[in-house]
Amino acid sequence: MSMKKTIRKIVKLGLALSLSLGLITQPAFAAVSDPNEKPYMSYYNITNPYADVDWDTYGQYKANLHTHTSLSNDVTGGANTYVSSMIEKYYAEGYDIVSINDHQNISRNWDDYASTHRPLTTERYTEILTGAERNGRGMVDVPLSNEQNNMMRGQHVLSYFTNWNANAPVTTLNGLFGALATYDQVFTGINNAGGIGFVAHPGREVTGIITAYGNNPERLSNILAAIFLKYPDAAYGLEIFGVGDGETRSDRVLWDRMLMQTAPYGKNVFGISNDDAHSTSEVGRGGSKTMFVMAENTVENVEAAMRSGSFYASAAMTLASQFRISNGVIVSGTNGEPAFNYVNSGVPTPVISNINIDGNVISVEGKYYHTIEWIADGAVIATGNSIDLMEYKDVINSYIRFQLKGDGGISWANPMLLELIELDFVKAAVKSFNANLQNGNNGNLKFVVTVTLSDGSTYEVEHTEKVKGGEKGSKTFDYGDYKVSVTWNDNNKVTKCEVDGGAAPIVPGQSGNSQGSSKGNQNQQ
Ligand SMILES: [Zn+2]
Ligand SMILES: [Zn+2]
Repeated sequence: MSMKKTIRKIVKLGLALSLSLGLITQPAFAAVSDPNEKPYMSYYNITNPYADVDWDTYGQYKANLHTHTSLSNDVTGGANTYVSSMIEKYYAEGYDIVSINDHQNISRNWDDYASTHRPLTTERYTEILTGAERNGRGMVDVPLSNEQNNMMRGQHVLSYFTNWNANAPVTTLNGLFGALATYDQVFTGINNAGGIGFVAHPGREVTGIITAYGNNPERLSNILAAIFLKYPDAAYGLEIFGVGDGETRSDRVLWDRMLMQTAPYGKNVFGISNDDAHSTSEVGRGGSKTMFVMAENTVENVEAAMRSGSFYASAAMTLASQFRISNGVIVSGTNGEPAFNYVNSGVPTPVISNINIDGNVISVEGKYYHTIEWIADGAVIATGNSIDLMEYKDVINSYIRFQLKGDGGISWANPMLLELIELDFVKAAVKSFNANLQNGNNGNLKFVVTVTLSDGSTYEVEHTEKVKGGEKGSKTFDYGDYKVSVTWNDNNKVTKCEVDGGAAPIVPGQSGNSQGSSKGNQNQQ
């Protein structure tokens, strides 16, 4: 499998290079050196958000991308909510990346807030950025973050890397309730300003108090999927986990529903997990965090990772059975998803430590997990460290994602988009052969069979057949999807080339290096 995929890539690269250089007008060929290796007829194009990650050398950086301070209207204020208090708490808890998302307020540098909100001193800000007391492990300040609210609904959007604000300038009334902007209006604004947006706590919209989509992820998915397809450069993902079970039920159901609607059009939906802390005591609640996988921890790399999806969401939660007890009340799962239990086992949340794609096989390595589940269209279709997509062709459509479950919680990888390429066989031909043999001498008759597939890719498969000079013979090469039969005469000249039994005349050539050409049956599979 892997060999075939590698070969295909070489062909495409060769073609691209030839065309771009304008040097060669002929198609580029890739020789298949192993005669048992068949041209690759079906494969998945896999769009892997972690494609650029070097798992051996990259670091993993703990992020919280949804934090409030005393600037937010729903924060009571006081010593445990000041900017400096919150940032110091995250720093002490070992976070590497933090963004402040006060409602309707674009975040400022952590030393640049009004004195009533007690910013960091510039000296301390520099220390935190550069990793004082942490052996140089600084904490990145994600710039220009916001949580854009809708006044009438629970529609909240986390925005980053843009100073666009649905409600600028902030007024007391709108500071309290948020702007009137809908999801569509907010993403329009973020898109036009070149920023990034994630939908905050969508579960609140489905199962919460202020809900426009009463217990129906499908309705919300229809709206959000349309926006994600409309603004693929601005709409990046969902907060698939936040705070705890009560806030976040149905979020993974919604996630899969959206993917089923966007993935066929090549649009991914990434997942983040945040604590949505409104005071220092809520920092890290639910064990919610997002792990960024990057060469080094810089603002530029954080933005690039948010755009490419090279991060994964985690929570210190385990999926309970369908019910759990919370404060003496039975809480059930929602929309087909079991309820979560908070775990405080002392075991870390699962870590994804390697993802390898080899042809159609995706393999995953990790730590602190006991189960890896593979999910397509909202259903667990397989478990284990690796999956051969071809074996699940019937239940896979346009994406696959995986999650690691362990005693310390759960980690969700970002989805991989899939496109099944099923090629047809177009033709095979004997390109050349040679055998300069005297009568009675043994030697090698070399066949180079050229195979063309329906995407225009061409393979040369080289075969060497031991023959006796002066004796006629024939040989059939079995490629599984089709067969190529070659017949030679007692002068060791190829006289006939048949594909799947269809006669294909050979252009007469000279023994030693002859050009043969034949057209086989169309669409043999
Ligand atoms: Zn919110
Ligand atoms: Zn919030």
